Amino acid sequence: MESINKPILKKSGCGIYKRVIDITFFKYKSVSMKKSYKSGCAVLLLLTSLFSKTGMAQAESQAAAKPDYTKVYRYCLDGDVMSALRVLGEGGYKLSRQDSIFKTRFESRFKGATDHSDYIGSRRSPIDGLLGIFQSYWRKSLLDNSGNYDTALLNNLFGFLQTTYSPGKQLFFNNDSLDRYLGRYISSLGLHTTGLGKTGRLYDLLVWGSEKDTTYSFTLNREKISSRVMLMDKFVTLGWEEYATLDKYYPGGWATDTALYCVKKGYDLSSEAFLISYLAHESRHFADYKLFAKLSSADLEYRAKLTELSMAKETLFKLLSSFINNANAKSNNGHSIANFCVIRDLSGRLFKTGFEADISKWKKLRIKKVNRVASKLLRSTTKQLLRIGRTVEKYISVLCGFYDSPFVILKTKTTQKNVRNSAHQI
Ligand SMILES: [Zn+2]
Repeated sequence: MESINKPILKKSGCGIYKRVIDITFFKYKSVSMKKSYKSGCAVLLLLTSLFSKTGMAQAESQAAAKPDYTKVYRYCLDGDVMSALRVLGEGGYKLSRQDSIFKTRFESRFKGATDHSDYIGSRRSPIDGLLGIFQSYWRKSLLDNSGNYDTALLNNLFGFLQTTYSPGKQLFFNNDSLDRYLGRYISSLGLHTTGLGKTGRLYDLLVWGSEKDTTYSFTLNREKISSRVMLMDKFVTLGWEEYATLDKYYPGGWATDTALYCVKKGYDLSSEAFLISYLAHESRHFADYKLFAKLSSADLEYRAKLTELSMAKETLFKLLSSFINNANAKSNNGHSIANFCVIRDLSGRLFKTGFEADISKWKKLRIKKVNRVASKLLRSTTKQLLRIGRTVEKYISVLCGFYDSPFVILKTKTTQKNVRNSAHQI
């Protein structure tokens, strides 16, 4: 058992298991790791040092316009590198040294007939040959959105595994078989992978050298919650997004039905952002999947966000601001609905008003008080859900459209009945 900085959370080594957002954003249970291993929960695409290198450039050439990096990266992550190249080539600005370096590197990777960057050389590993196949596929697909190079990739993988990996002679030409033998081949070289799956429209390849199986646990409202987290390190490749953005963006993690997978270099493991907004949030989800197997996304997010607000100290007001700014009761997105309901319900308890959008009022409250009230609200919601039954599907989200005051929601038997009825109607 090893302690970490935050008193409320403790972590322990967790036996022998095998195998990071927003995370956050979907129900892991229904996610097939192979096909969709990226967590929707913020964790997914991790902003690394996106603009840090260009910060100096801004200072150097304040008067000059700069390439629009936001657009460049957005196009890249959209899989449309031609448009990114066009933005970079637009001109009309004076390039700083840093801009120049970036442009040269980007163009050397994407502008010519072949990749002249040192992509493979800079990450030498036993899978150079395999990575070369993906590199070529990614490059073609990113530069030609009208083409589909999937079949060519699968053919190349088939040939590669048959000739390079002796058990691959038993390979069949279908995705399941390719996935299985690809995984075995990579494992045979002492490396880990997610297997053959897509990120967005492109087949991806994520391969790493080491992983540490860790269980984090904490107690909230006398309920012990724990999560298995695989902290992955020594990546050979983080896939096509990393390739397209010159390492600036990459998946921060994903989840399976048994564990969270976290790209270690993307996080400060002792920060609240990791321990509370990622770990406690995701742990709440894992616990809720067991408690309430059919609960809707908005309800799950509601409970995970209350968990965050029950524990956050230095990030508390930042979280509240973010929930206020991204609240929408009528959204299709569970996060936006949950943001609205969390703020509405806490406003009722703390200010005796409806949705309080003025963050300066929140900042006058004591952090501990917000923690305590959020924790109480979470506990009371749990009781209500248990009363309705473990198969409850919707609760908070159903109420969103009908009630302004949290006091109506959680108290009377009549309300409870209404909840059940409404849930059935929807
Ligand atoms: Zn979530």
